[in-house]
Amino acid sequence: MEVLIQGILDGKNELFDLQGNNVVDTPAERSICRRIRVRKNGKYGFIDMNGNLVIPAEYDWADTFDRIKLYGKWYIATTVSIQQRKWLIDSNNQPISSTLDINNQHFIINDKLWVKQDKGYTLVNLKWETLLQTDYQDIVNDHSQQPQNIYLVKKQDYFGVIRICDNNREQVILPFKFESCKFWKLHGTRFLIQGTIKGKKGLFDLDGNNVIPCTYNKSDVIIAEYSFDCEKQYYTIYTIEEEYLLDENCLVIARINKRNDVSYFHFLMNQQRKQFRFKTINELLSYCKNIDEKTISYTDKEDIITYAYFFLEEILQKYAAQYDLRYTRFRFLNNRWQTRWGECEYWNRSINLNLSLLLQSERNIRKVILHELAHLKYPRHTKNFYEFLGKLLGTNTQEAKKKFGGKMTFLKEENWFAIINQKKKELFALAEQGIS
Ligand SMILES: [Zn+2]
Repeated sequence: MEVLIQGILDGKNELFDLQGNNVVDTPAERSICRRIRVRKNGKYGFIDMNGNLVIPAEYDWADTFDRIKLYGKWYIATTVSIQQRKWLIDSNNQPISSTLDINNQHFIINDKLWVKQDKGYTLVNLKWETLLQTDYQDIVNDHSQQPQNIYLVKKQDYFGVIRICDNNREQVILPFKFESCKFWKLHGTRFLIQGTIKGKKGLFDLDGNNVIPCTYNKSDVIIAEYSFDCEKQYYTIYTIEEEYLLDENCLVIARINKRNDVSYFHFLMNQQRKQFRFKTINELLSYCKNIDEKTISYTDKEDIITYAYFFLEEILQKYAAQYDLRYTRFRFLNNRWQTRWGECEYWNRSINLNLSLLLQSERNIRKVILHELAHLKYPRHTKNFYEFLGKLLGTNTQEAKKKFGGKMTFLKEENWFAIINQKKKELFALAEQGIS
């Protein structure tokens, strides 16, 4: 066993050998894979978490250990080299691969081993034998999880999407026509690909279908969220211009143009308008003023939230269109942050409103909605912001700055998101019946 001394240097925990040499390269390495890289007489080795030298300091170079998947098998592995040869070892110093000249650049991308050569990337096995010679200039290495065997690759300056089949043949999923592309996750379940053609981006599925057309600018926000579950799972994709409803196979079920309609939810609700419990927002507001939150039934709470979502978004979308202040998604404020009337998530152009606005006048509601929309143009409370808001309100800067008080925790305990999703599900089922 090697004797090492643990000490604190510049506030960081470090390890020293008996000659006083600091033997740990980077303290962060300590937490990864329980192997700490040490250097002794210019050579690299590894100690375990107890300071035992488990891999002798015999390597000219050693990378840090990492958890990697290679050809379907998980390893704790790193790359080491002696003289001009390099290879992969596991955490017990056992070689995983044969040796390769260190002048070759290698990459582990999506569980496969690639070597970069002049002609292009070569897919190799653990003996570095060629499995597939390609002319790829580049392969996008998305270090987060990538879909199995799918690669985003660059060829003659354009990106395409390929699948490496079981026989190590390449199958082109999307042709080489993208200026850029990246993986895009649909609410944690499915992978889509965001590709840009002639400066416009859109979404594609892994079968190569164009799910969302390439009509969006680079800075446009595209957000996806789980929408409801109706035998299949359904998702909503929000952009500033459109809202899409997708099924679990990424098939577009409905497309709403926000210049003509408010949202898919609004569209479905609107078909029932004759039977509305609250015909106008004012009917809803008067009802809310007189209720006792302690004794109100759950059905009534559901109704209030459903109608609030409908009427508030109607106002929001009307102003958004009128002043060309395009938002992506409307939500109620997260319960924990109910210390404000509204919120504009400038980075994704989402507008969030406090349910407690239902206890305010319609005038105050409109004021908050315009305030949040104005933030899409001016994110902070600057002079320009208030001047602009004053114009939208048809008043002046002083009036735009005026605040109002009132209860801010109305229906705070209710999971509005679940209620709206449940309602979406019911409305969708009704619409389906109507179609068939
Ligand atoms: Zn503000």
